[in-house]
Amino acid sequence: MTSQRTPYSGFTGQYIAGDWRPGSAGKTACSVDPYNGETLAEITLAGVDDLEKAYATAAVAQIEWARTGPSRKIELFRRVLSIMEDRQAEIINWIVRETGGTLLKAGAEWAAVRGGLIEALTLPSRVEGRIMPIDSTGKQSFVYREPVGVVGVISPWNFPMHLSNRSIAPALATGNAVVVKPAEDTPVTGGLLLAKIYEEAGLPAGLLNIIIGDVEEIGDAFTLHPVPKLISFTGSTRVGKHIGELAMSGKTLKHIGLELGGNAPFVVLDDADLDQAVRAAIFARFLHSGQICMSCNRIIVDTSLYDEFVERFVEHARTLTVGDPSDPKTVIGPLMNAKQKAAALKSIATARQAGFDERLGGEADGLLVPPHVFANVRNDSVFAQTELFAPIAPIIRANGEREALALANQTEYGLSSSVFTRDLTRGIRFARQIQAGMTHINDIPVQDSPFNMFGGEKNSGIGRFNGDWIVSELTRDHWITVQETGIDYPF
Ligand code: NAD
Repeated sequence: MTSQRTPYSGFTGQYIAGDWRPGSAGKTACSVDPYNGETLAEITLAGVDDLEKAYATAAVAQIEWARTGPSRKIELFRRVLSIMEDRQAEIINWIVRETGGTLLKAGAEWAAVRGGLIEALTLPSRVEGRIMPIDSTGKQSFVYREPVGVVGVISPWNFPMHLSNRSIAPALATGNAVVVKPAEDTPVTGGLLLAKIYEEAGLPAGLLNIIIGDVEEIGDAFTLHPVPKLISFTGSTRVGKHIGELAMSGKTLKHIGLELGGNAPFVVLDDADLDQAVRAAIFARFLHSGQICMSCNRIIVDTSLYDEFVERFVEHARTLTVGDPSDPKTVIGPLMNAKQKAAALKSIATARQAGFDERLGGEADGLLVPPHVFANVRNDSVFAQTELFAPIAPIIRANGEREALALANQTEYGLSSSVFTRDLTRGIRFARQIQAGMTHINDIPVQDSPFNMFGGEKNSGIGRFNGDWIVSELTRDHWITVQETGIDYPF
């Protein structure tokens, strides 16, 4: 869609209390296009003063917003949605440039944000309490559902706009205020761009605040601050556990939602449609260069199909175009930053040292890492147990269904997973034994639907997103009774 609106610009600082202002830390950081190194924005970073102001403003703004009726909130989301649609090309361009995502990835992320906004239209009217039976005579009992208050959102860089907005939109829709700390690499798509959209839609000042700052300076303070009652964190397991420790540290006690790392098994049983399975594995492994928490990180194939699967997978992977993410032909764009590239190269070296069969490889060029495929990988190796977050595919052999299941579950993670079989009853039986929050039969593990449950088990996190599940996370029960008649107390 072509927008008649003036493109958003001027991303240089913070968005606090409805005001675009420089950060107080006395430092700047740049948002950089990972493909060509071009500076997209130079931001003056936030200090603890800015954080304080953001939380204080949010706490005040939230009181009025909680009292605002559902229709006004729905009207707000209708305007946000319409801006999102009008500015589709502009937004996709930002996602391509700031995340290094291909046009396909950026379009999918835009669609995910839009889907979340459509779902948000329904949320204000879905916050329902209960009238409860109670034994006492002359007493009525109600359980109200109230917003938690202020929600602190910390998001990662891989799908920054969607992963920030999947907390922001339902939080606002259920009567909360929000303070967001996007990842260092994606200050615009992870926060400031969303602030522009909500501001243009008329969101009252103070309900959405974006803080861009150094983790050393504001990281722990973000969680420890007394105002936020819930920290909604999406990112690595390492940092998520740290946030969890802080949130329960004794210095503070608050709710947490942790959506963390993954190591999704992609299981191909002996009766699978091989062609479908290969194409799905390719798509799920190489979409966004493998930088997705649900990406199939371990491809586990029954021995009866193994050789044929590897052959076809390698042939397909060899054809994928690596390069400029803004070129529609590109499938594999750059990794996010030098740290991600170093981690990818280390994993490749680990696989080589372990003696796994390198069936496809190549040299990195800048942040571009070509697809790598390793066969005969051992599931208990460091290589297979690592969340690779890169276009690197380990393929593991399984002797039968029972072993495939054991291998699938042999991981500290439990986010998403897939199983391929022509027997759907077998598929459901297998899926229910996978220790994960999400399992998809005959499709890729990378799935997110705004009205279906999303979340992980084990070291992949605590808490749930989307639909009724996120309403429950972002609201609290409050038991209220009314005694209508006098009581003759015993003393
Ligand atoms: P990360 O954990 O390094 O960073 C995530 C966020 O936490 C960033 O905003 C970062 O600045 C912030 N952070 C770091 N230390 C902090 C501290 N002490 N206090 C407050 N904030 C702090 O993760 P990443 O590299 O940005 O993202 C990749 C990871 O995210 C992968 O492990 C991936 O699997 C995971 N992820 C999970 C999901 C999910 O839904 N489960 C979705 C996307 C990504």
